Amino acid sequence: AALVAGGVGTLAEVWGDAMRAAGATERLLELLHAEPAIREAATPITPAASPQAAIRFDHVRFAYPARAQLNALDDICLDIAPGESVALVGPSGAGKTTLFQLLLRYYDVSDGSIAINGQDIRQLSLHNLRKDIAIVPQDPVIFSASAMENIRYGRSDASDDEVIQAARAARVDEFIDRLPEGYQTFLGERGTRLSGGQRQRIAIARAMLKGARLLMLDEATSALDAESEILVQQGLAAAMAGRTTLIIAHRLATVQQVDRIVVMDAGHIVEIGTPDDLRRQGGLYARLASLQLDL
Ligand code: ADP
Ligand code: MG
Repeated sequence: AALVAGGVGTLAEVWGDAMRAAGATERLLELLHAEPAIREAATPITPAASPQAAIRFDHVRFAYPARAQLNALDDICLDIAPGESVALVGPSGAGKTTLFQLLLRYYDVSDGSIAINGQDIRQLSLHNLRKDIAIVPQDPVIFSASAMENIRYGRSDASDDEVIQAARAARVDEFIDRLPEGYQTFLGERGTRLSGGQRQRIAIARAMLKGARLLMLDEATSALDAESEILVQQGLAAAMAGRTTLIIAHRLATVQQVDRIVVMDAGHIVEIGTPDDLRRQGGLYARLASLQLDL
């Protein structure tokens, strides 16, 4: 609503952001022209009232409709405790993005189930499911609007004070304060251009403002300069505090911050443990970490 009121942000930008949020750009045409892949529950249940989200993947198998012969995920069992932070790591094609898409219900599982706080997500309305999830996409969209409005996009009824608090926590205030007109400075194509690290911190601030119980972050693969790296990690730590968090991680600094690492390969979970555990085990994680590649 804030975007419309400000007369900024084309439909294509907003739509693009929503799609990229789940890494689902390739599904755009499918979504526009085909039957929806999922069906809403006829009588959705009321979401469990709990301050934090527990997540359970129970023997989840999934094959994309277009590639029915390949299980993108196979027999995934994973319990994530309320408030826990988990990093998903593994080579390209392992199934990390697919796991995010299933949790957001862009597709339904082929077998098994996914539950949040003991409730099968197929029994919740899509609205209730997704309003409880804050997403930091890999490549966040910055609108042609002020810094204030760009952050308020996370929750359109947030007050200026709430926006500024979220910005401080996400460590974006350090550069916004240095902009010529502070929070009123115009960002985006025709305004001040932001670096990759700055854009991710704007997205983290949006997610914090949304205040959802579940945070899902798809880390950018591009390298950040050392200062941005530290600030992004600090912003991320603030966003994760007290909130169940799932991160597709590509950085060593990020995986050091989480409670557990889930290592995936070819649709399977192959290792799971703390960063120290996994380094000692000398398996796939240890190899990826030594290369610092596609962590
Ligand atoms: P990751 O995010 O770990 O790189 P993905 O979840 O994107 O892996 O992909 C897991 C598997 O699913 C891969 O084999 C990939 O080729 C396949 N896949 C991903 N998206 C689609 C799609 N839209 N249609 C068919 N197959 C897909
Ligand atoms: Mg991916």
